[in-house]
Amino acid sequence: MVSATIDNREISVPEGTTILEAAQKAGIDIPTLCHHKRLPPIGSCNMCIVEINGNTKPVNSCNSPVEEGMKVATDTKALHEQRVVNLKKILKHHALDCPICDKAGECDLQDVVYRLGVTDAPFEPRENPRIAEYSTSLIRYWPERCILCQRCVTACNAIKGIGAIDIKSDGDDGQIVVVDADKCKSCGECLFVCPTGALTENLSRYKGRPWLENRVETTCTYCGCGCQLQLKVMDNRVIGVTTDVDRGVNQGSLCVKGRFGYEFIGDENRLTTPLIKENGEFREASWDEALDLTAQKFSSIKEESGPDSIAGLTSAKCTNEENYLFQKFMRAVIGTNNVDHCARL
Ligand code: SF4
Ligand code: SF4
Ligand code: SF4
Repeated sequence: MVSATIDNREISVPEGTTILEAAQKAGIDIPTLCHHKRLPPIGSCNMCIVEINGNTKPVNSCNSPVEEGMKVATDTKALHEQRVVNLKKILKHHALDCPICDKAGECDLQDVVYRLGVTDAPFEPRENPRIAEYSTSLIRYWPERCILCQRCVTACNAIKGIGAIDIKSDGDDGQIVVVDADKCKSCGECLFVCPTGALTENLSRYKGRPWLENRVETTCTYCGCGCQLQLKVMDNRVIGVTTDVDRGVNQGSLCVKGRFGYEFIGDENRLTTPLIKENGEFREASWDEALDLTAQKFSSIKEESGPDSIAGLTSAKCTNEENYLFQKFMRAVIGTNNVDHCARL
């Protein structure tokens, strides 16, 4: 363990703990932009600077470990002024188009601008506007909103192990580019960690605003991993999906199905009643009628050809209990061990 003081508070943390982590544990909130709980330190935004007794210049707290006897200050007048200078550099080409940005209301950049009280950051359009090289059918890249924090690139590499995108530098400027479009799994990890509206989701556009939505905690039903997610619900419709890094085995990550596969829930083509096919045409039926017919067919097949002529395949979209009931039904009611699950396909 190492002991130090942060803002005159005595702290004691395991060796290797960064000043930012130690401050957060002590309840001291240092502004950050590129830092993300699930990512290794990036150190690109220079918002988390702190003063260390004896050092001539501030250091980034996200990648500086606590050392024995260190005295750290996180909230001095000089630090505030330097953070404002650093933030204005970031804002130079970032139009404050919050009213039409999908991220407004849950944007880290918006929050830091508000927190530091920056009201005069004149926007200078680039002479050569950036071209949105990275975009998928599900994700849109707004290059002029990108602050080059590198969270998306780091997440694609460090969390997903994919490396589909990178930053192309051009002097002191740059933008996100695709390294290998075929590698991209459209998982949306990059979108999830982006602290600004530079990466937004195409499906949920214009469907709701963060402060108008309800968030409903649930478990993804697509596969057995059981990722935890939050459905964004407005007017009883699911308009998007988000996650919480502190919940579940997935720690905020999802695959393409969990992140973007929610539109079927309110789709008007979804079946709402059982259908029975007669003379080549489907007609609507009641549940009782459909279940009676199914039971009748199973019984006659079993009678004619034996129980092993029937097999059952169940689904990862069912709960554990439903899958248990299904195998019980196949074994005890139909009388066969021909039962399997799509997770083995
Ligand atoms: S969607 Fe997933 S795979 Fe594609 S760039 Fe983003 S993080 Fe990488
Ligand atoms: S797209 Fe978002 S996460 Fe990626 S560098 Fe730009 S601002 Fe950062
Ligand atoms: S998000 Fe993907 S990996 Fe996670 S439970 Fe859903 S389908 Fe499975």
